[in-house]
Amino acid sequence: MQTNNQNRTYLLDFSREELTQYIRELGFESYRADQIFKGIYHQLLSDFQPLSTLSRSLRHQLDHITDLRQLTLKARVNSSHDNTTKFLWELNDARFVESVIIYEGKRITYCISTQVGCALDCRFCATAKMGFLRNLSAGEIVEQVIQMNNSEQILPTNVVFMGMGEPLLNRQNVLKAAHLMSDPEGMTIARKRITISTSGIVPAIQKLADSDFPFSLAVSLNAPDDYKRRMLMPVTERFPLKELVESLVYFYSKTKSRITFEYVLIAGMNDSREDAENLVKICRRIPSKINLIPCNSHDPQFKAPADVQINRFATYLRDHFCTVTTRLRKGFDIDAACGQLYTRHAGSKKPGIVRHK
Ligand code: SAH
Repeated sequence: MQTNNQNRTYLLDFSREELTQYIRELGFESYRADQIFKGIYHQLLSDFQPLSTLSRSLRHQLDHITDLRQLTLKARVNSSHDNTTKFLWELNDARFVESVIIYEGKRITYCISTQVGCALDCRFCATAKMGFLRNLSAGEIVEQVIQMNNSEQILPTNVVFMGMGEPLLNRQNVLKAAHLMSDPEGMTIARKRITISTSGIVPAIQKLADSDFPFSLAVSLNAPDDYKRRMLMPVTERFPLKELVESLVYFYSKTKSRITFEYVLIAGMNDSREDAENLVKICRRIPSKINLIPCNSHDPQFKAPADVQINRFATYLRDHFCTVTTRLRKGFDIDAACGQLYTRHAGSKKPGIVRHK
């Protein structure tokens, strides 16, 4: 469990059961833990003073020995031409992570980080350039949702673990955070609307399949054959496509939950007719839908294809009975792809950035 400088216990790191145990160890009955849980995850309190169902002395004691916030807002950036808001947080050890809210019609998607940096080194990804620094704790993950909710005063309809990091290399904390945010007594986010996105960590996918996994799974495929995928995603060395696809067939057989394939389209790399044909073959094996994402990058090597090419690719997939969504070019003006706010933050004088002290 994390403690901050004053050695306070960070309550957001606790599962519901751990919180109950902690409160009982302090000498209180478990119904107090239920009241505290509601205060934290329903009222989104940052301290216990307003929680009038508790005695004044318990509120005082909790505020003295526990902590409900460890993320400090450093920047909040509103996109000027679409409804995307991005947040940069400073952690207790002076490291940074980011989150983003994407508004699309009635859908409000919170995209959150799971690690500081990432070890997987995907070539087109801004987070990869940081390398891997550390895992986020469960509390640091769920606190992104709490603070964005507090800041914007609006609950998400969807939460995607698609910010910085590889969620399945921090599986336990990610699952704990997902359970906390979906608890019916707290934020009540529907489990199927919480999506964990992975670059394809095969043993972890098998573990999810063998557990009671109530959330949705997305896999960043990004190329339909090992040769191309290795060039874009070095993790393919360790987990070749054949093994990945087999683990997903197994996952579906156990969970009956349709998988989303994320496919970042990069001009001249993975957007040919042959790529589309190979992608269709994979999708035939696994009940799935494909989310096409035009690459968002400042590197001339990794450019999004022209719209006409994106449409051609999508049409081929649809003509072959794949379910396809094409992500709009949301957040281009605020660098909404993974890790891009962070990598620009240092020394950035970009207009529109609201810095918080
Ligand atoms: N490691 C996890 C989650 C983080 S990446 C995963 O790989 O799924 C989340 C998504 O952002 C992935 O689908 C990834 O392919 C995509 N992404 C990363 N960099 C991007 C970029 N420059 N443009 C568009 N999408 C990007």
